Amino acid sequence: MGKAGREIVGKSADETIKLLNKALADEWLAYYQYWVGAQVVSGKMRPEIEDELKEHADEEKKHAEMLAKRIVQLGGKPILEFSDLIKQANCGYDAPKNPSTAAIVAQNIQGERCAIAIYSSILKKLKGSDDYITFNLVRKILEDEVEHEEDLENLAEDLKG
Ligand code: FE
Ligand code: FE
Ligand code: MG
Repeated sequence: MGKAGREIVGKSADETIKLLNKALADEWLAYYQYWVGAQVVSGKMRPEIEDELKEHADEEKKHAEMLAKRIVQLGGKPILEFSDLIKQANCGYDAPKNPSTAAIVAQNIQGERCAIAIYSSILKKLKGSDDYITFNLVRKILEDEVEHEEDLENLAEDLKG
């Protein structure tokens, strides 16, 4: 990372890199959970739900990329080993063993709720720091996760009807 770019962040950069790497692990697992869920999902409203799962998978992958770019900018290294993605994740991975649309939507709602909790806790930690760039990036991701939860809650509601 550039000298001045790192100077404005100060000593908190290493701690921030750790938090961002754990979030990166969550995003990769979320990406795979949505992606593989879209492959196996079946039942009521399947086409509509499959499309939403695929869309969310793409968005989680974008989040992973935003986080990785910022980690590199801060002078860190994004997680390189797959096994570390599992070890470092905050929210874990919930395999879609039951392919019914209702079960998969419910699992992913839990995932989004975890993501919302993690990103708001990162924002609380960054509030008052000089790292406006990371703050703004995490705020943008949080906005998407809030939208994801709402989209899935609406689908869960429609499935009941
Ligand atoms: Fe995400
Ligand atoms: Fe999400
Ligand atoms: Mg959506």
